[in-house]
Amino acid sequence: MSELRIGVVGTGAIGREHIFRITNKLVGGKVVAVTDINEENAKAASAVCGARIEKDSLSVVNSPDVDALLVASYGPAHAESVLQAIAAGKPVFCEKPLASTAADCKKVVDAEMAFGKKLVQVGFMRRYDKGYLQLKNIISGGGIGAPLMVHCAHRNATVDPNYTTQMAVNDTAVHEIDILHWLIDDQYVSAQVIIPKTTKYARPGLTDPQLMILTTESGIVIDIEVFVNCQFGYDIQCEVCCEGGTARMAEPSFPLVRKDASRCVALETDWKQRFIEAYDVEIQDWINSTLSGEVNGPTAWDGYLAAVTADALVKSQGSGRAEPIQTGAAPVFYK
Ligand code: NAP
Repeated sequence: MSELRIGVVGTGAIGREHIFRITNKLVGGKVVAVTDINEENAKAASAVCGARIEKDSLSVVNSPDVDALLVASYGPAHAESVLQAIAAGKPVFCEKPLASTAADCKKVVDAEMAFGKKLVQVGFMRRYDKGYLQLKNIISGGGIGAPLMVHCAHRNATVDPNYTTQMAVNDTAVHEIDILHWLIDDQYVSAQVIIPKTTKYARPGLTDPQLMILTTESGIVIDIEVFVNCQFGYDIQCEVCCEGGTARMAEPSFPLVRKDASRCVALETDWKQRFIEAYDVEIQDWINSTLSGEVNGPTAWDGYLAAVTADALVKSQGSGRAEPIQTGAAPVFYK
């Protein structure tokens, strides 16, 4: 196969961005069919790539000219489409979350293992970000010793009025949840949320900022500041403190401006810009690996781990305690 013929389920914001990059920036993939319950979105997507509009996810999956599926509908609809793809034996890239509950993520894991071959990649694009890859190389190279602590921040200038306290875990910290266990190659065992004083910029009822603590099997302690009304920009920080040194993720590069007796460097203002290259590399890697018959990248098991960890953090938002995370070891299938 020299070209991957892709069917897209969900043609909202990120679905259309992926369609645009597959059609105009990447190589080896062609979007041939799209579907969305929102007809306007499906039409807009079809206008970007020329694909036909199918009536629903199952008709996309079962189209003979669709080799692989890309799922970017809203979270609660993901698992159904992914399970349809597995039943048809077709590779599937699923935007995060893999499913909206840990139990549904587990159903996907079980279905994929029963099929006997990895078909699912989950859209945790930070694994393709240069900054995290550089950190991973330093840590796995062993030059600064074993990790002991990780300090992270995930800051947004502002969020939509419908953003909730729970979304700080499920929509925001979920990216740290996935990237950090991969970065330090360890497994989470507990999760706690500490609630500091709330900013006056948070809408009534929203708890912001939040400090999330994850501990791992080997005893590494991770702190993640989630602050979604920080006012000043989109700011992602990660510093790994090891036995023989520390490694801090490089900041996005902007010119240093000297003006009015100060030195200033710009910050990103939104996540799309900060991770645009990572999305391109991620989807290109998915196309390449799928064409070569091997699905790489974050697995359905990673999607399940993220869901279980997020559930423990949400539970701790209510209890204030450190909540256990019990996933067991990864099945050999996913190692
Ligand atoms: P969005 O703009 O709301 O798009 C979702 C689309 O799916 C909408 O057109 C929605 O229709 C449609 N939809 C809902 N249920 C459906 C179903 N059963 N079958 C087919 N289509 C359905 O949302 P988005 O921002 O693109 O996000 C989509 C997914 O990508 C979410 O899971 C989100 O978490 C994820 N995401 C990931 C990243 C990342 O960094 N990896 C970034 C952004 C988004 P309506 O308009 O009628 O609701």
